[in-house]
Amino acid sequence: MCLPGKTPPAPSVSCMDASQRTYEEVSWNAWELVPRLELLSFYQVERRARDLSGIVTWEHHMCIKSCVGFTSPFAALECCPECGEPRYNQQELEESDGERKVPRKIFMMFPVGPQLQARWKYSQTAKSMFLSGQTSVVT
Ligand SMILES: [Zn+2]
Repeated sequence: MCLPGKTPPAPSVSCMDASQRTYEEVSWNAWELVPRLELLSFYQVERRARDLSGIVTWEHHMCIKSCVGFTSPFAALECCPECGEPRYNQQELEESDGERKVPRKIFMMFPVGPQLQARWKYSQTAKSMFLSGQTSVVT
């Protein structure tokens, strides 16, 4: 609803499932149209979403060939126990005299606890969860 004397809301573009690159390209295009436009970086948006929702992600290193994740019991290994591939980018490691350990591949986990807590925060999703629980008990 537009009130007299108020600026109407800006048109928005929905990009569900968009990549970081898509966000940055859309931001760049918007900035070209309106150079004074101040937009959040992808990192800033990601951080705000995390702060508002309470949902966090856990990143773990994994073998470049996806054999194993370097989690316990493999957390301390520097090479994959299955294929022998190095865990870290060897060029980065050599150029920094072993200081910079950049994983060659990572995977992300979204712990279920914070997701459920976030759903209970809002009446619509909480009601939906409650009703789906009742349905499963009845059937
Ligand atoms: Zn491997």
